[in-house]
Amino acid sequence: MDQFDREHLWHPYSALGGPVPVLKVARADGVLLQLEDGTRLIDGMASWWCAVHGYNHPVLNQAVIGQLGKMAHVMFGGLTHEPAIALGKALLEIVPAGLEAIFYADSGSVSVEVALKMAVQYQAARGKSCKNNIATTRSGYHGDTWNAMSVCDPVTGMHGLFGASLPARCFVPAPRTGFDEPWDERDIAPVAQLFAERADTLAAFIIEPIVQGAGGMRFYHPQYLRELRRLCDAHDVLLVCDEIATGFGRSGRLFACEHAGISPDILCIGKALTGGYMTLAATLCTRTVADTIASGEPGVFMHGPTFMANPLACAVAAASIRLLRSQDWQGTVAAIEHRLHEGLAPARALPQVADVRVLGAIGVIELKAPLRLERIQQRMLEAGIWIRPFGRLVYVMPPYVIEPAQLQQLCEGMVALVASLQDEDMRA
Ligand code: PMP
Repeated sequence: MDQFDREHLWHPYSALGGPVPVLKVARADGVLLQLEDGTRLIDGMASWWCAVHGYNHPVLNQAVIGQLGKMAHVMFGGLTHEPAIALGKALLEIVPAGLEAIFYADSGSVSVEVALKMAVQYQAARGKSCKNNIATTRSGYHGDTWNAMSVCDPVTGMHGLFGASLPARCFVPAPRTGFDEPWDERDIAPVAQLFAERADTLAAFIIEPIVQGAGGMRFYHPQYLRELRRLCDAHDVLLVCDEIATGFGRSGRLFACEHAGISPDILCIGKALTGGYMTLAATLCTRTVADTIASGEPGVFMHGPTFMANPLACAVAAASIRLLRSQDWQGTVAAIEHRLHEGLAPARALPQVADVRVLGAIGVIELKAPLRLERIQQRMLEAGIWIRPFGRLVYVMPPYVIEPAQLQQLCEGMVALVASLQDEDMRA
């Protein structure tokens, strides 16, 4: 373990220097992470949903190199450039119908901030300044910046820590009907009730379509989204869909909204947008939302990041979308889904396991108790796999380029690791 790293570098959700030692990656190719000591690990995480095409991809490398020779960056205030325009055109060909205006943001969390600001400015521009709060479901996750945090699950999120410093949002229970279960119409009743009582205070409802990610890796019924769309329309509340994790094919559809056949008023995308090459996100909205904002005071949308529409990021994102669409990505994701079903099925019989579920290229083993990450790292290395469980969730969303034999090794490694868990590996 690197001494400098240990003493000076913060890692996500950790203290300086720990508690879990970090592994030093020397390079990454395809689906393999190579550590400094030569150990190769099959990557089950796609760097948190991002690296859909795998690492060190020649096409994506070339997109960066080609753009680098022209300009790495230029401000977007008052200027524009071909990579931003080309990416915009590529996005409008694939996003759900009706989304026409694109705001490039620097990260997923920022795109959520932008979405919430858009919703509030939209309502204000219509003379409805009282409609300025946000509703959402429990078990959601939308990022780590202030407003994004405020709409994360109030229990598993960071409300406990930041408490009253966060804006108070309106929460309904998480959708309960599973993706494949018979639809239970009582599931949507809390939203109907909330809107009946509070819609005059609500600018928007934000939700991760179909897959609730970091808030619990739950897959819920598409009818929930259809009913939510209907209620939002009926009560003049904008629907914001956060497809930052689910976008670009991960759930088996290009965007998870497609499972329900709905379009949001505002859409957030990020993560796999650049094929995992660099940070870029986007908030898209309908022309109605954009035009309404323009018609109100001050007549402009009040956000403008320094690195907005970074040309390198836009160039690689456009290349990543082209690459995805040039392949039978649907067949690939369906094949991964099938292999995850088969490979993770043996975990169902294990006493440590509460549930096993798969959707698209996402596989989840839910444990009965939260595990202690520091206890499993060595076993992961021995199995030759890279996974990053949290709480009770041991889950994977591998790069789409994973070979069948690699996926089998990944699944066998996960199941063996779960089978090896003893009481001392779990949190009380
Ligand atoms: N929304 C969702 C659904 C996410 O999964 C994430 C990242 N895990 C975010 C928002 C925040 O994105 P970022 O980490 O790029 O800020």
